[in-house]
This record gives sequence, structure tokens and C-alpha cells, in this order.
Amino acid sequence: MEVASYDLLMDIAFEQLKFKATLKIKLQSEQDVILNSVGLEILHVSSGRGTHRFIQKGEDLMVETGPFDGVLEVEYEGSVPDSLAGIYRAPYDQTHIITTHFEAAQARRMFPCVDQPDAKAEFKLAVRIDKDLDAISNMPVDAVTTEGEKKLVTFRKTPRMSTYLLYLGVGKFDVRAGKVGMTDLLLATTRGKTGLGGFAQEEARMGIQYFNAYYGIQYALPKLHLVGVPEFAQGAMENWGAITFRELLLLVDSNTSTAIKRRVSQAVCHELAHQWFGDLVTMKWWDDIWLNESFATFMAYKALDSIHPEWEVWRNFFNGEPRVETLAGSMGKDCLKGTHPIQVSVNTPDEIEQIFDAISYGKGAHVLQMIEAFIGDIAFREGVRSYLLSHAYANATGNDLWSALEDASGKKVKMIMSRWIQQPGYPVLTVSLRDGKLNLRQERFLISGESEKVTWPIPVIFELNGERKSILMETDEVTVEVDQLRSLKVNPNRTGFYSVHYRDLDTIIWNSDLSPYDKWGILFDSFQFLVSGKITFTQYLQILERFNEENELLPMEEVSDQLALLYTFVPSKIEQISRKFHSTLLKVLQDKTDENSSILRGTVAGRLAAVDADYASKLAESFREYEKVSPDMKLAVAQAYARSTGDYEGLRIAYDKSSSDEDKLRILAAMVAFTEEALLQRAFDFVLSGEVKRQDVIGILGPAAANPRARGLAWNWLHSNIGTLQDMYHGTGRLPEVLFSAIPILGVGRVREVENFFRDHRMPDCEAGISAGLERLRAHDRLVENIMRT
Ligand SMILES: [Zn+2]
Repeated sequence: MEVASYDLLMDIAFEQLKFKATLKIKLQSEQDVILNSVGLEILHVSSGRGTHRFIQKGEDLMVETGPFDGVLEVEYEGSVPDSLAGIYRAPYDQTHIITTHFEAAQARRMFPCVDQPDAKAEFKLAVRIDKDLDAISNMPVDAVTTEGEKKLVTFRKTPRMSTYLLYLGVGKFDVRAGKVGMTDLLLATTRGKTGLGGFAQEEARMGIQYFNAYYGIQYALPKLHLVGVPEFAQGAMENWGAITFRELLLLVDSNTSTAIKRRVSQAVCHELAHQWFGDLVTMKWWDDIWLNESFATFMAYKALDSIHPEWEVWRNFFNGEPRVETLAGSMGKDCLKGTHPIQVSVNTPDEIEQIFDAISYGKGAHVLQMIEAFIGDIAFREGVRSYLLSHAYANATGNDLWSALEDASGKKVKMIMSRWIQQPGYPVLTVSLRDGKLNLRQERFLISGESEKVTWPIPVIFELNGERKSILMETDEVTVEVDQLRSLKVNPNRTGFYSVHYRDLDTIIWNSDLSPYDKWGILFDSFQFLVSGKITFTQYLQILERFNEENELLPMEEVSDQLALLYTFVPSKIEQISRKFHSTLLKVLQDKTDENSSILRGTVAGRLAAVDADYASKLAESFREYEKVSPDMKLAVAQAYARSTGDYEGLRIAYDKSSSDEDKLRILAAMVAFTEEALLQRAFDFVLSGEVKRQDVIGILGPAAANPRARGLAWNWLHSNIGTLQDMYHGTGRLPEVLFSAIPILGVGRVREVENFFRDHRMPDCEAGISAGLERLRAHDRLVENIMRT
């Protein structure tokens, strides 16, 4: 079936949250036409040949057309639910906007269509709405005609594009105009908020300039909207010409923390990167979704590094937020048997929504970085440009990209990439010195401690006695002649997607000139080796001790993260170590004035307050003048206040007074930092009271998991409300990701109970996340047993 165009007219009753629509689809089909359609009431289907009979079955609308070539007209009705996918209502201040989110397979909730990425078509959209409302779509408005109390807004026809990238927003918007070259760059928010979008709009201006130059192709549409959506399950979405954002990642005020400002820029650049890579050229099918996501992830970092070199954003590529993009996050998933290859076969919407994860985003991005390091950045850019040019307004596969990169570089990209994207997991390289030879041996790394004899073609880079060498390691073992080994670094700066296990080479390694990235790699691997049983808890603590005098932010942050995780599992064993480490670290950070230190200082203060009652009560004093606390310290102050005062009412008042999403999230995080069960329970009840944005409900599990006293209650809350949460996030792909992160922490100490619950309560739209989460949970549980025995 070939669709050429959709011509859609929607008559929208804004207050009643209903619509009536007429859709004309120009298409060609060898047999009966089958369209995707969910939740719509189809009234009438006709064509030049008269009326057609139809039936609705599952998510399909089957029309008895026989072989067909022409325009099919469908009349139908629908409603606008309080969901977070498809066409839905996003409430704010006692009113709402109507908005859409279609990725992956939700466009069918607004109009019958061939809802798959390779069925690209032109879209001509028109909406009849109340006179005082505005409408935003992918293309600029072509014409507005007043019809009594209503008006008809017609948009210009789009170029050929995929259904999941279509956008429609209806409501009372304020718009702030802007321009980059010939492109209108427009910020749209609910009334009165455009003043907060200047930062994002400026980031977008610089981002578009960067991508225009990098890709060598000008942004394709006449305008680009940045739309702030009051209820939004994702961070942002790359609808072509109308990028949507949750307000947290678009609106910045004097209270916004440095970390969130960075995430605003990151989200802007990520979605901008998609305007070419994903929107102009789209994957053929969802099994190549990683092409979209890993590429946009990698490109966002490149753009940010060029726009704000002082931010040192590559640090965040290793460890930071969002975790699915980082090396830590992707290796943390890829060390499980329940991981999946980067390129994975998926068919149903349930399956598709579960692969928007650390493998599709992070692992893919890091493998791209590895390939770029292997072929050089100029050849990489040339390959990308020719790929985009050859497939513009059409679809492509991973293979098309490898061919382009191979042509541009003359190197074996296809062979290397096909293995890295089709083989699940990643290798650990064991490095040892034997009979005057350096021995490198690879096998798959599994967090369970099991080993698997699989090999990858690894472009290994190493520095031997200060001299840089590279080999393409295609077998399980290689040896390198070495006269006298004085210093050694394997996988310098961690550009390769593999771990390194040095055997009896301690003095040599620590003698080498280690960058912050190298040190981070050693720390990250050590933690993984601890969990998998490759090293003991005592050995692990010895490694941590080397970082007592550390001065670089990336390794300091990693140690802090690891101690925070261990603290929630075994507080009695970690409390003292954590107190010592975090109080020293806080002193190191005290006098630093750069933004990166300021971000870490906030995190460290919060973690110190968790293990040091005196410090917590001192820090809590600032809560009296909370508005004056610096944005990077606010979360720590609120959490310290909760711990040392137990003042639930005080936090509730602060929640109501908070005007921004970030402020509300800080107070919610503080509410799960209480030490008393009764107070924690009130916090969990509050989250589902209707006063917290739907998009933020599930986010409570993150901060709750960090509090050893809240873990059990958080698990109770999760399993007792699982049905509500499933309904709330249906179609968004958020729940499997959250379950994957929450289960391994909340479940420690109650593995059986958690396993039994998920065995009895099947969730087809979360299965992959649950089984991977359970696997990591079992590893954590073994770790806790080992530590307790030490
Ligand atoms: Zn993306």
C-alpha cells in the first residue's frame, strides 16, 4: 500500500474535548485498504466508487475496497482523553491545551493512517476551532477564515514525512518571535510564560546554526516552533517543525539550577539534531530506532561542546542525566543477559515502546563515537552528509549509513558496525603481562559473574610507555611485544565501548598519566567488577581510597554516586565511609566558583546531609529563607530540612508556593527524604492525590530509592498502584524504563516478593524492562550478601 497524502479537517470542540473529522487519503493498494485506527468512531468511508463497508479489528480499520487507486474519504469522531499519548488534554491553571504525541505508534489515535515510519506522505491539515484559540502544527498557517464564533485555520502542506512526526496543538498560546537566517524560530507557551523561554530560544538559534553548518544542508522547513506542554511524559519530542518540551526543559527562571539549564540546552540540541537525522531522513522501521536516537544523542553533545566549550559536556556523556544517554547507563544495562542488540527486531507497539532505552540512545551513541574515533571526524562528517543527501525525504537503514561512512573513510566500517549493532552485550578486555608480552583477552562481560566466549571486532587504542598505538582486535586474544613496561593505558579517554580489567598491573596503571575520563573508567569498571564478583569489597574499597585526594570532578562524582547507591543497600556499612568522603569533597568544592563545581556541590551537600545529622540540621536552617538559597543548593536544603525537622506541613506549604516545575520536584524529593515512616507514607499518598502533574508522578521513585528508609514503602506504593500507573503512562514507553531502574534498588532485601509480584502480574508493555530489572536486582542482592559477610 502506498500513501501519497492525507488531507485532514478536524472540527474541534475545545471545552467538550471532542472532535469530528473528515480525512481524505490519496493512496494505492493492491487489495483491500487496511489503516491503523484506535479509539476513533468511524462513521462513513467512501470514494468516487461510492460507500465502502468496513470493519474495525484490534488497531486496524479494514475497508472493503478491493484493489484501489484514488482518494478514500473517512468521516469519523473522536475524543481527547487525559492520557499522555496520541491526542490528549494537557491541563494547567484550571484550563487546558489539546496537544499530541505520536511516537511511536500513536498517530492512529487522531486519524486513521498507515502508522509506520516508512509510509511517508504529505499532510495538509486544517482545524475548525473557537475564535479565541490558536493552533500550531508542523507547517506555518496558510489561511484563517472566520466562521461566526469559530475560525478555520489551514496549514501549509508538509513535505513527505512520517506519521509519528505530525503535531497539532490547540489552546491559548503566547508566541515569541525570532529568526535564524530565513527560518522563523518561534517560542510558544501557555499565556504569560514566553518571558521564561528566552534561554531555550537562544540555545536553539545557536543549535540551528551549528547543524546547518555540520550537516551542510539548511533546515528544511520555513519555521520551527518550540512548544511548552504543561503535561508531557517525555523530556521533549522532535515533531518536524514543532518540537514539544515538558515545561521543565523549556522554561528557565532565576530559580532554575545549573543542571536543569544544561538539560534544557541538551534537549534543544537533541531535538534539533533530529530535524535532519530522523525527520528529513527516517529509519525504515523501528528496529533501527537507535539510528535516530543514538545519532541525535551523539550530535547533541557535539553541538553543545561547540556552543559551550566551558561546560565540558563530554563528562556528562559518561555519567549524568538523562542516564539512558550515558556510558554508565548503557553499560549498566548491556551487562545483563536481558539486554538487546542495538538493532533489535520489534513488531507490536508494546515491543516498540520498550526499546527507547539506554541501548538505543546511549550504547548506539557511544558506538558511533568509537567509529568516529576510528575513522576520524572529517570522514565521519562527510559520510553523514552524503547519507542525508541521498535519503532526504525518504527512509534509510543502518547499512546505508555504514556504506556512506565506509566510502568516506576507506575503512572497514560495515564489518565492525554490523557486529556491534547485532551482537548484544559488550566485552571486557583482560590485560596482563606474560613473559615480557602484553596479553589482551576479550570475553563478554556479564554482571551475573558468568562468562561467555563471544568476540567483537574492537578498535583497541592504548598508550604504551606514553606512545599511542591502535589495533583492530578481531580474535579473542592478542599479544603485543613490550621491552619494559613503565606506563599503560588501554582505551584512553574511554572512547571504546568496552571495559578493561588490568591483572596485577596496579603500579604501572597508577604511574600512567590518567585523564579524568581514564580515572572515571577505572572507577566505573571497578564497581561493575565488584557487583559481578570479579573483585572483593575490600579490594574495591582500596581502589576508592586512591580517590581520597582527588581533584577532578568526573571521578569525584562517580565515587559519590557509587557510595550513594551502596548506602541505600547497606547503610550501616557505608555511612561512615560516605560521611568522610563527602565532607572532604565538600571542602574541596567549597571555594570553586565554576558552574560544574556548583552542580556537584549541591549533590554532595544532599548526600552528606543524609549521613551526617549535624550537617543536616545546619543546612536545614537556610530553609527559613528558602527563596534566597542559591538554585544549585535548594534541593539539598529542602532534603536536609525534611530529615532534620520532619515538618511535612511546612513542605506542603512550600509545594503550593512553588511556581516552577523544578521547584515542585525539589519539594517532592524532599518529602521522600523523611526518616519517619508515617511522614513518608503521607508523601506517597500526596503524589497520587491529583495535585502532582501526571508526568511527574512516577519520578518520585528516583529520590525515594536513595533513602534506605523509604525503599520499602516505595516498593509498596509501586506495586499497589501499578494499574493506575499503567493507565497513566500507557503508550509513552516511560514505565518500562522506570521499572528497569527502580526494581534493582527497591527490590533489594525482598527479591522473592518482587519476582512473585511480576510473575503474577504480567505487563506486556513493560516485560523487557522488568526482566532486565530483576536480573540486575539479583546481582545487587548477591552484592549485599557479600558486603555483609565482609
Ligand atoms: Zn530523540
